[in-house]
Formats: sequence, C-alpha cells, structure tokens
Amino acid sequence: MPKRVCSFCGRPESQVPILITGKSAQICSDCLMQANEIIKHNLEVAERENAQSIDLKALPKPHDIKAFLDEYVIGQDEAKRYLSVAVYNHYKRLRQRAEADGVEIEKSNIIMVGATGTGKTLLARTIAKLLNVPFTIVDATVFTEAGYVGEDVESILSRLLQVADYDVKAAEKGIVFIDEIDKIARKSDNPSITRDVSGEGVQQGLLKLLEGSMVNVPPKGGRKHPDQDYIHVNTRDILFICGGAFDGIEKKIAQRMNTHVVGYNSVQNVRGLDKGNLMKYILPQDLKSFGLIPEIIGRLPVLTYLDPLDRVALARILTEPKNSLVKQQMKLFEMDGVDLRFEQDALDYMVDKAVEYKLGARGLRSIMEAVMTDLQFDAPTMRKKKISVTRDYVERQLDKSFLSEAVES
Ligand code: ADP
Repeated sequence: MPKRVCSFCGRPESQVPILITGKSAQICSDCLMQANEIIKHNLEVAERENAQSIDLKALPKPHDIKAFLDEYVIGQDEAKRYLSVAVYNHYKRLRQRAEADGVEIEKSNIIMVGATGTGKTLLARTIAKLLNVPFTIVDATVFTEAGYVGEDVESILSRLLQVADYDVKAAEKGIVFIDEIDKIARKSDNPSITRDVSGEGVQQGLLKLLEGSMVNVPPKGGRKHPDQDYIHVNTRDILFICGGAFDGIEKKIAQRMNTHVVGYNSVQNVRGLDKGNLMKYILPQDLKSFGLIPEIIGRLPVLTYLDPLDRVALARILTEPKNSLVKQQMKLFEMDGVDLRFEQDALDYMVDKAVEYKLGARGLRSIMEAVMTDLQFDAPTMRKKKISVTRDYVERQLDKSFLSEAVES
C-alpha cells in the first residue's frame, strides 16, 4: 500500500498530527488550520473593504435625519432625536469595522413606547424610506415559541428577505419594526416555574435575532421543514426597532417614582413633574416590571417614548405632513382637473370628531374617507372645476356615515 502523504505539505502520515483522507487527496490538520486562517483573514479583509465603502460624510447627520422625519411626522421631538442618533450610530458602527482598532461599537436597537396611533410605525417607516434599505413590519403577537402553533421568530427574516428580493446582503443591512412588543411580556414580573408559551419563550427566541447571530431562515417563511434549504442570514447589522403601547405602564412608573422619591419629594412634590404624561420618565426597569426579560431590555438599549396626540397635533397631522390627508385628497381631485379646498372650520370639525370618537390620528383617515367618498364618486363626471368643503357638508356626511352610528350605539 502506498504511503499516505498530505497533498498540501507532502509530509507522510507519521509526521503529522492528523491526516484527513478525501476521495483523491489528503490534507493534514496543520494545513487545514492554516487554510482556515487564510479564509478568516480574507473574510476580514473583505469585510473591512465593505465597511470602507460606507462614506460617513455622505450619510445623513442626526440633524438631517430629524429634519426628514419632521416632513412626515408631527411632534414627537424626543423620539425623533433618539431615533436620529441611533440610526447615525448604527452606520458609524458598520463603518468602524474598517478601522480594525479593536473598539467595537455595540448595536443600537431601539424601543419606542407610546399609545397606539401616535406615530411609532410611521417613524420607523420614514427612517427606512430615508435610508433606502429593506424594511419590514412584523407583529409580535403572531409569534409563538418554537414547536407551538403560530409563527417562529425566524419568519421575521423571511419577510425581510422577501422585501429585499432575496438579496441576502441587502437584507442583512435592513430595518425590522417589531410592533406590539408589549404583548409578549411575561404576565408577571416573577419568572414562573411553568413555561409561558406566549411570552417568555418568544422573548427568548427574539433574543438571538436582536443580539446578532447567524440564523437559518426557511426561504418561504412558514414552519421549518427538515429538507428545506435554509438561507443563512446574519442579523448582526440589522437594526431592530420595537414599538408597543405598554398599556398601564404609567402605573409602574408612578410606583417606581414614589418608592424612589419618598418623603418631601414624593411624586406630587417633585417640581415640574408632568403628571399627565408620566411616560416621558420611562426607564428600562419599568419595562422589566411590565414583563420584558432583562436580556431583551439589554438588547434594546435606546429607549424612547411618544407623546399622546392632542387636538393641536391632530389638526397639524391633517394638513402639514408632506403626504397629509388633505394633500392626498387635493391630489386625487387634481388628477380629475378639480381644484379642491377645505374651509378651516370644516377641518376643525373633523379634528373635533376625531377627538370625540377617541380614534386618534388613525380616526382622521376614516373621517376623511367618510366625508369625501360621495365627492370622489361624483368628481370625475362633474362639470364643476372648483370644490370647497364646508363645515356643513362635513357634518352632513358624518351624520349619515357609519362612524356616527358607531359612536352613538
Ligand atoms: P402606532 O404605530 O404608534 O400605533 P402609526 O404610526 O401606525 O401608529 O400611526 C397611524 C397613522 O396615524 C399613521 O399612518 C399616520 O397617518 C397617522 N399618525 C400618527 N401619528 C402621527 C404623527 N405624529 N404625525 C403624523 N401622522 C401621524
């Protein structure tokens, strides 16, 4: 039998630690390790070159990011500032890899807390629009722990891949908005002995996505199947933005403030405290009291809140954003050659109704639709080329719409 030698270094089996035999060649463990080093080095160089291609100067600065958000989102200044900085740091972090000086900037995943319909999704969507990266919205409530009926958390990445047209590199730099993160909170602060299928298990599943790891993603989403080919997605550079209403968290905040500031400085006495909007004092430990596990909170280091929308904000939302409801309607009519106007008191009335129906900003859309549908039906065949929507008209349309019935019943 011929003496077996390493096909790479030529040493015989007796002189190498381990010789691995293939079909028509052998490799010794020393050569294997060397090859491994070469591959690692080449990957690092490629990664560094890739990072160098990120030109920080060309990236929008936090001020620019906020200015862009201002065009679409009314108010929410605090959240906008936090988001702008977090996104900018996210790109700095990617760029940092080019410098190989050992300083690793940690990921700045974000969590936004605020009542439903105050603009959380809109903020995330607008950021993605600015950065022109793949973006997807997922609802945390559909997830269940692996093995239970429902979707596995990996399906988040299937969706991101879909919107990125299966360009894995693009998806790996995308943004994921996880809505209703509060719904997977543990039911109580105490870790229970029994497993909590809907809560803690899902949080554990999310952890590995948030912290950055190689995840095997079933390409078509759905449930894992043993003989399906997986796509490997690295979540290290995916920015996760979570949002949730965290109903009742104000109570936890108040409790914490009460216990921390006792005596002279009880909550009532702390000067300048905005008792109507305790949300602005939110801290990570309040999320823990609400039932998020500390590991998840640790992976969402940027915590910010959204203000409730008051009457003034709703009025601005109707007209000011770049694609405000009023501007959209005007555009629709303009396409039929009709010049559409809204009288100020007509707009005021719509805002009053949104407040009265307690529908928030989302309600404005339903109100606008209810008011405008008849006109939209007639406009294309109308001879009139100018329409002014009056308060009377709005009142009449709303009276006959299902919206008023819904409120009366
Ligand atoms: P959330 O995610 O907080 O539940 P969304 O961002 O989905 O709320 O808001 C619902 C809709 O209400 C948006 O599509 C947008 O039209 C409008 N809206 C809500 N908040 C704002 C805001 N601050 N500025 C402009 N529009 C808003």
